Amino acid sequence: MLKHALRSLKRSLTSGCPQFGRPATERVDCVVIGAGVVGIAVARELAMRGREVLVLESASTFGTGTSSRNSEVIHAGIYYPRHSLKAIFCARGRDLLYKYCSEHNIPHKQIGKLIVATSSSEIPKLNDIMSCGIQNGVPGLCVMEGSEAMRMEPELHCLKAILSPVTGIIDTHSLMLTLVGEAENKGATFSYNTTVIGGHLEENRICLHIAETKSLENWNGRSPSHPEMVLVPNLVVNSTGLSAPVLAKRFDGIHNAVIPPAYYARGCYFTLSKTKNPPFKHLIYPIPVEGGIGVHVTLDLDGQLKFGPDVEWIDGVDDISSFLNKFDYSVHANRAELFYQDIRKYYPNLKDDSLQPGYAGIRPKLSGPGQPPVDFVIQGEEIHGVSGLVNLFGIESPGLTSSLAIAEHVATRFL
Ligand SMILES: Cc1cc2nc3c(=O)[nH]c(=O)nc-3n(C[C@H](O)[C@H](O)[C@H](O)COP(=O)(O)OP(=O)(O)OC[C@H]3O[C@@H](n4cnc5c(N)ncnc54)[C@H](O)[C@@H]3O)c2cc1C
Repeated sequence: MLKHALRSLKRSLTSGCPQFGRPATERVDCVVIGAGVVGIAVARELAMRGREVLVLESASTFGTGTSSRNSEVIHAGIYYPRHSLKAIFCARGRDLLYKYCSEHNIPHKQIGKLIVATSSSEIPKLNDIMSCGIQNGVPGLCVMEGSEAMRMEPELHCLKAILSPVTGIIDTHSLMLTLVGEAENKGATFSYNTTVIGGHLEENRICLHIAETKSLENWNGRSPSHPEMVLVPNLVVNSTGLSAPVLAKRFDGIHNAVIPPAYYARGCYFTLSKTKNPPFKHLIYPIPVEGGIGVHVTLDLDGQLKFGPDVEWIDGVDDISSFLNKFDYSVHANRAELFYQDIRKYYPNLKDDSLQPGYAGIRPKLSGPGQPPVDFVIQGEEIHGVSGLVNLFGIESPGLTSSLAIAEHVATRFL
């Protein structure tokens, strides 16, 4: 069935938009929309459980969205409200990820992290973070005096710190490559340059409208579009990251009220110009700020040190630009000034002119500026009433850490 659907998909997409009549319609088993780390993990899990899986990705390869624009940190699960999906999936995902990395030789390192209070007014917040981490069952957490933390990290300034030994770093590209390989070995098929532009309901099933990405380049996104193909899956997982809410709104027949509003918060990174020895061995995190967990120190597996991400709310993103990942990812040098100020609170010896613009990522948020943080949202039929549709909304940090746990949950709950 899948092979036939794919042959047809390719024929339709290469022959362009049908001028007359209805587009080809095919039934398929499972469709995952979006090949970021979460979509890939879900596709692998479904394929491992013996299902036929087709992954539709608008870009020319996997992992070009948020999954390649993050801090690459395996989070411990400290900050999230107790019993939230973020807390549950982060803890489970962390354990699964360390095991998976070890078994598949994926570069990673459990280097540990320090969360630091740099003024006395931050100490109550640090204590709250510790309580939250303990309630979430994060192993090995310990509070230390500033002097002890500064002995571990001589370049650090702080009054008090929390050490989280189970936090680590990972090569995300290797992870995604391995997951894709495993999914393909189990029969999953990845169709790149393939965009889902919307859908409609027939007998309470979702029919996906598919177009070749190239054909959308000049489309204004508002006029009616002709799908080049329609797919009718048994199970659809909308794992389109930043696009997930806007895509769900294009599924005719779903009540708009169940689809959360999308907010976008850009985060920029600056890298430290090459030094012989990086100044820190651990990840260093300040007290979280609204919208993010603060401009922190991250090391990659080559020892390159970067600082970020900051928080900059952006709007005016239209649907099609979002499907085609046409976000503004530029890092303006003038943002460096704020970075110097923030970083010198915990790294006072940071030299002038030592920061270079790095890269940016965009957080797929469900709450806007001034609003309380919102949990991951995983929506099935019980919420939107459509058989076989699963929407993954607001998969921001710790989405990378949680990816294998989200996949396990989706497969267990919706198959
Ligand atoms: C600045 C920043 C730092 C972060 N740091 C960390 C961290 O250190 N640790 C951690 O655990 N998490 C972190 N995260 C979160 C993590 O990166 C994300 O949760 C994760 O990458 C989300 O993966 P995804 O597969 O859901 O989305 P994405 O990676 O965005 O993938 C979605 C895919 O869907 C495709 N797509 C979109 N629309 C369509 C369509 N209509 N049709 C077909 N395909 C479509 C896109 O091209 C894209 O490839 C961070 C996030 C940000 C922004």
